[in-house]
Amino acid sequence: MNFSIAHEGWSIWHSNSKIASPSLSALYSILQDGITIDKWVRDGRIPADAVQLVDWKLVEANMKSLKAAHRRWVTKHASENCGVGKTLKLWGKQDDDNCPRCNAPAEDTTHVLRCTGKDATSVWNANLAKLSDQMESLETEPELSHALLLRLHQWRYNIPFVLGDWSTEVQQCIADQDHIGWKNMLEGLPSSRWQTIQARHYDNIGSRLHPKRWILSILKLLHNTAWDQWQHRNDVLHRTDQPRQRRAREMLDDEILLEYSIGPASLQPSEHYHFASPLPSLLIKPLDFKKAWLLNVHAARKYAAERLRRRASFFEPRPRIQRNPPQDQQPAPPQNQQQNQQQNQQQPDQPPNRRRRRRNPSAAPRPRQRRRLIPQADDRQRQSLMDWMRTNRLR
Ligand SMILES: [Zn+2]
Repeated sequence: MNFSIAHEGWSIWHSNSKIASPSLSALYSILQDGITIDKWVRDGRIPADAVQLVDWKLVEANMKSLKAAHRRWVTKHASENCGVGKTLKLWGKQDDDNCPRCNAPAEDTTHVLRCTGKDATSVWNANLAKLSDQMESLETEPELSHALLLRLHQWRYNIPFVLGDWSTEVQQCIADQDHIGWKNMLEGLPSSRWQTIQARHYDNIGSRLHPKRWILSILKLLHNTAWDQWQHRNDVLHRTDQPRQRRAREMLDDEILLEYSIGPASLQPSEHYHFASPLPSLLIKPLDFKKAWLLNVHAARKYAAERLRRRASFFEPRPRIQRNPPQDQQPAPPQNQQQNQQQNQQQPDQPPNRRRRRRNPSAAPRPRQRRRLIPQADDRQRQSLMDWMRTNRLR
């Protein structure tokens, strides 16, 4: 319906609906949401026909409830732009893309959630136990609760999905979420049926709890489940007993040994302090300290080499320019000069080209003639000039 308020300056419309409060966030979502969803579909995160199954208003509310660091992590995790094996190998940061927990190749963000190595399952089970308790305390519809826990278990262990003996609406909800994806559920993309079913259940049992708060609470716990898997994976990765860590540490120690074998002799005296502590005490320092030490020593060596090069080039003998080289070493005249000589020889009647005469180096030096800047006057002119000066000075 097209309507306007009296004396209204201008109004903003989106399709056939007027935007009552065109705030920055409202305009941004109108302009960007479609572009973002198209990108997710293009990248294969969500099937195109599953987009309308997602409760996008709930997605927005859930994202706003997260801390900024967690929001950034969700977007990076969903788009594989984080430090998983496949991405690090693609960026050239790692030689292999193996999982640090189970050593399986091609570690991606889905594998981070599904990995079963190094106590990852204990972390997962602890989170699902919390989820189960929370659903019970929030008076969740029993079939819905059972279906959610079962599907998460089946998805994690890659067990084929089978719809259980649930009510039709629960089956439809689970089928929709199957289509949207369960990794997407952990990353905050729920079907709109979750809230609808829970709202009806609250009405049936006369509960005063709010279905939106229920689904936001479930999404928060699912987010924590995924987040804890990521944290656990990073803890294992950065442990010092990891093969990759051990290899990196050994390479660093080898470089330090090499620097100590070269010694500080070639460095500037002001840089000798890098080698003040004995080698064993340096080798037991933390990894970051040793990396910084190597960077400083490399910089000091580069500076000393540059300084040496500059000093050597300063004392080098410079090539002298010989003004009159011997006849046999004289360069051949240019081609046009040869042509001029030939023309002068062939046409003796014409005046030769004016060329500057070269002085014979064996001839005696000529006396320098003083150049007269003022032409000399004769005696009569000089006398009249002196008379004029004298009379003018007397006045
Ligand atoms: Zn793994």
